[in-house]
Amino acid sequence: MAQLSVNLGALKENYRTLAALAGSSQCAGVVKADAYGLGVEPVSRALWDAGCRIFFVAILSEAATLRSLLPNAEIYLLNGLIKGAAPGCAQQNVRPVLASLEEIDEWSQFCRDMDVRLPAAVHVDTGINRLGLEYDEAIRFFQSASAFRDFNLCMVMSHLACGDEPANELNQQQVAKFEALRDLAPDAIFSLANSAGTLSAPDTHFDMVRPGIALYGSDPIGKTSTTIKPVVTLSATILQVRDVAVGQSVGYGSTFVCQRPSKVAILGLGYADGFFRNLGGSNAQTRAQVYIAGHLAPVIGRVSMDMICVDVTDLPDNSVSRSGNAEIFGEKISLDGVAYASQTLSYEVLTRLGNRFNRVYR
Ligand SMILES: *Cc1c(COP(=O)(O)O)cnc(C)c1O
Repeated sequence: MAQLSVNLGALKENYRTLAALAGSSQCAGVVKADAYGLGVEPVSRALWDAGCRIFFVAILSEAATLRSLLPNAEIYLLNGLIKGAAPGCAQQNVRPVLASLEEIDEWSQFCRDMDVRLPAAVHVDTGINRLGLEYDEAIRFFQSASAFRDFNLCMVMSHLACGDEPANELNQQQVAKFEALRDLAPDAIFSLANSAGTLSAPDTHFDMVRPGIALYGSDPIGKTSTTIKPVVTLSATILQVRDVAVGQSVGYGSTFVCQRPSKVAILGLGYADGFFRNLGGSNAQTRAQVYIAGHLAPVIGRVSMDMICVDVTDLPDNSVSRSGNAEIFGEKISLDGVAYASQTLSYEVLTRLGNRFNRVYR
């Protein structure tokens, strides 16, 4: 059994911290992928309480869920307008972030048919080469007679490729290109920054910032002076503590062999819960540690679907017992540290969390 505790107070504090950093720019909240795996309902309500009024999701079903939770929010659809989705967007009062001339044409046609100038954002690619109008294409579009005619072009959006590397020169190039578009759409809100830009680069703030991961307790740069509070604590129940003799191995594949008489705790959490298999430890290398009763203990042997094993030989007698708890990450062990040990990012750790936790919202 594992427990996922989400500190909504810390989430709100992180929102306020980011909004303060944004200064006169607005601060939206990105809640795609079920609020990065944490639960869009409690998370979006808490963000609304903290003053957030503008939200971003990736796909229309996420937008529909969010619309039912927050009837008065401004909701943007990051993945743009899927063919045929315009009526669904209009029905949910959702603003697509239009990513191509085709999408713009489809939204324009829908607005003409409905005889209403519905709002939408236009996504301009300034260097990530993912979604968005090509830069020159965007300039031609903004200069065309139809640009501001059929729909309410309320926002121009672009996305940083290397925001988490503040020294990367691509950031400056993207800022300059984005800035140069302002005169072409003077009435639209301009938005470029994700969490990394919000935290580290004021020149990326423009009119509105769009943080996601920093709300959820991870600093994508890791060295900013801003304090982002941990939001998520994952802990697992100790199912059993056993003695293992010298020369005996632990877990599938016998990848860890006890070199001394050992005490091993078995925790009820495994890769089905989002504890990645590459966090298992061999005799040669510890990849991850957990925190039990004031002490760190290494994960040993392979990670199973529902269990991990930790070496608690060095912990004081009686500090480890059946039904006790181990922190996997949270206050004592950082989410970013676990992500680093798994050779991935906090984004993937959070969005791959399983769905059989006892979830607690504080
Ligand atoms: C996910 C996403 C964000 C939020 O990014 P974080 O790094 O989590 O702050 C902002 N903008 C776009 C376009 C995104 O896809």
